[in-house]
Amino acid sequence: MNRLLDEIEKGTKEALVKKRIILCSIHNGESTIAELSKEIDMSVPTTTKILNEMCSSGTMYECGKLETNGGRHPNLYGLNPDAAYFVGVDIKQFAVNIGIINFKGEMIDLAMGVPYEMKNSPEALSKLMDIIHQFIEKQVIDKTKILNIAVNISGRVNSESGYSYSIFYFEERPLADILREKLGYRVTIDNDTRAMTYGEYIAGCVSKEKDIIFVNISWGLGIGIIIDGKIYKGKSGFSGEFGHVKSYDNEIICHCGKKGCLETEVSGSAMYRRLMEMLKGGATSSLSKKWAKNELITMDDIVQAVNKEDVLCIDLVEDIGRQLGEHLAGIINIFNPEMVIIGGTLSLTGDYIMQPIIAAIRKYSLNLVNKDSVIVPAKLKEKTGIVGACMISRLRIFEY
Ligand SMILES: [Zn+2]
Repeated sequence: MNRLLDEIEKGTKEALVKKRIILCSIHNGESTIAELSKEIDMSVPTTTKILNEMCSSGTMYECGKLETNGGRHPNLYGLNPDAAYFVGVDIKQFAVNIGIINFKGEMIDLAMGVPYEMKNSPEALSKLMDIIHQFIEKQVIDKTKILNIAVNISGRVNSESGYSYSIFYFEERPLADILREKLGYRVTIDNDTRAMTYGEYIAGCVSKEKDIIFVNISWGLGIGIIIDGKIYKGKSGFSGEFGHVKSYDNEIICHCGKKGCLETEVSGSAMYRRLMEMLKGGATSSLSKKWAKNELITMDDIVQAVNKEDVLCIDLVEDIGRQLGEHLAGIINIFNPEMVIIGGTLSLTGDYIMQPIIAAIRKYSLNLVNKDSVIVPAKLKEKTGIVGACMISRLRIFEY
């Protein structure tokens, strides 16, 4: 068994304290003994004793001294980068992003845009396993130090039980268990939007904000909710299914099986459908040639077309932004968040989508309420999901 896991999974009181020290270090970075003892609510001598043990086992290390104005400079302690590694996997509609971080949270290898077509089939699952195996195979680290692989899955996911109900639900047992068997490592799964929310929270645009709504407008549409600094999951982990709120009297069947869902008009897949309809109807775009040749048009192609000032794609993304803003106004009225982060593939169109979202929110939410909310694009951009997956991969080992 891995030495670090052995240290924290003994079930003793001391092992629990060690977990708490690690969690504090994950969320607060390097700390002094005084800061740690306050955070974990233990005396300084006890904290010192346990910390010394963690330093001699190589889990923590002394990483410098706190700069103070005169007087003593207390030692700073942090997570030893080489003590463990964590893999994250972010599945997109037409690609997979995969990365690995060290214990400190630094990305040591990242493969963005590995070609892959997301289909809800056993073949697609097996292709995904190959991609993960190949990525781990080429890592030059001690592989027994890889403590977890976290996979972002869209739709209904219960991260605690490991069940995925929307995607890869072929067997009557948790998907996390199936993946664990196939990969030979611990595996946890999480809803993709929630992983992105955590990525921005811990390594993106969030500084001190504690009440946050993260909007993931990619192929689908979902939100992540942080209340008082904690990710809100709901009873079984299904919170944030914003895209499946009945919003339109259209006849479009959503992939969830119902019709008129918000996602049928406000999402990357809706934009894709409308673009195809318009191209078929004779509208022209920089993507017309590709379409005429029957080549695959991906979300990245569409985002690129917008950013290269393709008028048809700009019209579509602006319209989607306006409708998203109208519906977000209601969310803002309900949650009164400090920050609303717009993330996901369509957010990569920058101002083209941000301006109509902001204008519609200002127009349709209550003035007094929306004054509290800053509306910002995700800072990690296309890496929000993969950074989130890697960070959650580390968090899961120490949180339960
Ligand atoms: Zn739906």
